[in-house]
Amino acid sequence: MQNRWLRGVITIVLVVLFVSTLMDLLNAPSNALQQAPYSSLVTAINTRQVSVAQVDPATHEVTWSSKGKQYQTVYALGYTNDLSNLLDSHGAQVSIMKPSSSGVWIGILGDLLPLAIVAGFLFFFFRQSQGGGNRMMSFGRSQARLQPDTQSTVTFADVAGVDEEKQELEEIVDFLKNPKRYLEMGARIPKGVLLFGAPGTGKTLLARAVAGEAGVPFYTESGSGFVEMFVGVGASRVRDLFEQAKKSAPCIVFIDELDAVGRMRGAGYGGGNDEREQTLNQLLVEMDGFGINEGIIVMAATNRPDVLDPALLRPGRFDRQIVVHRPDQEGRKKILAVHTKNKPLAEDVDLAVIARRTPGFTGADLANLANEAALLAARGRQKRLSMENFEEAAERVMAGPQKKSRVLSEFEKRVVAFHEGGHTLVGLMVAHGDPIHKVTIIPRGMAMGYTMPVPEEDRYLITKEQILDKVAMSLGGRAAEAIVFGEISTGASDDLEKSTSMVRQMITEYGMSEELGPMTYGSRQDQVFLGRDLMRARNYSEEVASKIDQAIRHIVMQQYERAKNILVQHRTTLNQIAMGLIDKETLSSEELRSIVQATT
Ligand code: ADP
Ligand code: MG
Ligand code: ZN
Repeated sequence: MQNRWLRGVITIVLVVLFVSTLMDLLNAPSNALQQAPYSSLVTAINTRQVSVAQVDPATHEVTWSSKGKQYQTVYALGYTNDLSNLLDSHGAQVSIMKPSSSGVWIGILGDLLPLAIVAGFLFFFFRQSQGGGNRMMSFGRSQARLQPDTQSTVTFADVAGVDEEKQELEEIVDFLKNPKRYLEMGARIPKGVLLFGAPGTGKTLLARAVAGEAGVPFYTESGSGFVEMFVGVGASRVRDLFEQAKKSAPCIVFIDELDAVGRMRGAGYGGGNDEREQTLNQLLVEMDGFGINEGIIVMAATNRPDVLDPALLRPGRFDRQIVVHRPDQEGRKKILAVHTKNKPLAEDVDLAVIARRTPGFTGADLANLANEAALLAARGRQKRLSMENFEEAAERVMAGPQKKSRVLSEFEKRVVAFHEGGHTLVGLMVAHGDPIHKVTIIPRGMAMGYTMPVPEEDRYLITKEQILDKVAMSLGGRAAEAIVFGEISTGASDDLEKSTSMVRQMITEYGMSEELGPMTYGSRQDQVFLGRDLMRARNYSEEVASKIDQAIRHIVMQQYERAKNILVQHRTTLNQIAMGLIDKETLSSEELRSIVQATT
């Protein structure tokens, strides 16, 4: 970096020297003309001493003769007419030079060179501060890059361990390959596909693979790219991107980090970000603008689905949402296989063992791990990557500062297994438990179901019994920790918040408390500052407030005790579920059912 900077400075100094020499040369009188100041010229004209004058508007120089001598004078730009009139009216014979092309060139060059140098300087420093790239010249134009089919060689084979996600994308690929078949059936293909998932789970990779599989062009732009540099270009960039895309449909437009532009409008204190909102609006306009089956599929990725503007998720926009999960053990093994494909492995390397040792690793972590192992092997001048290399590499990746919190230690794994087992078992034992598809102890950085509240319209009728069962189930995690370990962890804070707010709603909104009766407390206020959070204005007394708090506590405690009782009664089942989780990380509903049947 330092070096490049120095080189840049030297280059500029050289250029300046060269240019100034050149300009001297250009300005040098071409023959033995004598330079005369403008004032002498005027005096000479006024005293009618000028007989012949030749005005050159290109260089704004006048060559004139007086008393047999030749002079040259530079006059101010734009005075050609005035000067020739003056000469004319004082009896001089005036001729105006036809601008010869080289003359114009030299004139313009003379005028513009200093400007160009200044601009060059500015440009240079811009590049420096931007860290390279030709952004200055292309601002306003989309930086989306068109990748020819030959270059986008990523296919589904390169993305491992996300089979469900791939299956969902299969349809999109098929449509891009044979749009006709779908058009004939009158099918409506989603315009927008949104990929949710923790960083490094392979969202970008999946989007590329869809383009690669279908063999269509892939335009990509990141959300932050839209709002990057100059105010007011985001919207035009979006327009530009879609213009390009329309020309080469069928194709995929991929917007990475959608949350950078797609945050809720009007959310947060201190007003919104106008630039971002305009960009978002333009994006919505474009997405509504093209027809349903025009062959453009907009894909986007984000790890913050909770902050997205609801307008983005409406039908006709990103109406297909795919959660990209962290890989499970089997998935991790497959990802490791992808990333060790071109690496010579020693015989003792067992990818399954490495996969078991790396719960919580994302695809990116595993790619990193494989690379670290290769580096270690190379440093040790080995012929092949050994198991030892992988083990050391795993430790390195785990010890990485930000990753530590996501990867479970053996003890944490046990706590989480019993915690999740507690939820599951209570859920299975109560009458109205949510159906459990699977249970897993793979850390979910952004546990989808929790952060996405059920939209108001979708709320179906729900009875008091059902709410209480849900509360018991969400307290089951904490209850299990208390029973098994005799101490409790911070892992349950989300559950506690959820159950408390369920009970509060039950009392204040649905009037389901015996003491407080069928009344609502507080009225709903429109969302003003807090984005999606609804605030309830208080319209009841302190006394009632404390009664509400008491009622909430009473119900929560009741359900906590109930959850504990269930777990104590079915302790063997709880143990079996937890052991299964520690061993396999994920249990399907069938596996759960067989555990329950075997132990009760
Ligand atoms: P995201 O966009 O979700 O943050 P990326 O798609 O950029 O993650 O993934 C980063 C890298 O991690 C990829 O280039 C790839 O090498 C690796 N990777 C991630 N997920 C997978 C996967 N499922 N299979 C194979 N490699 C993966
Ligand atoms: Mg990405
Ligand atoms: Zn929990």
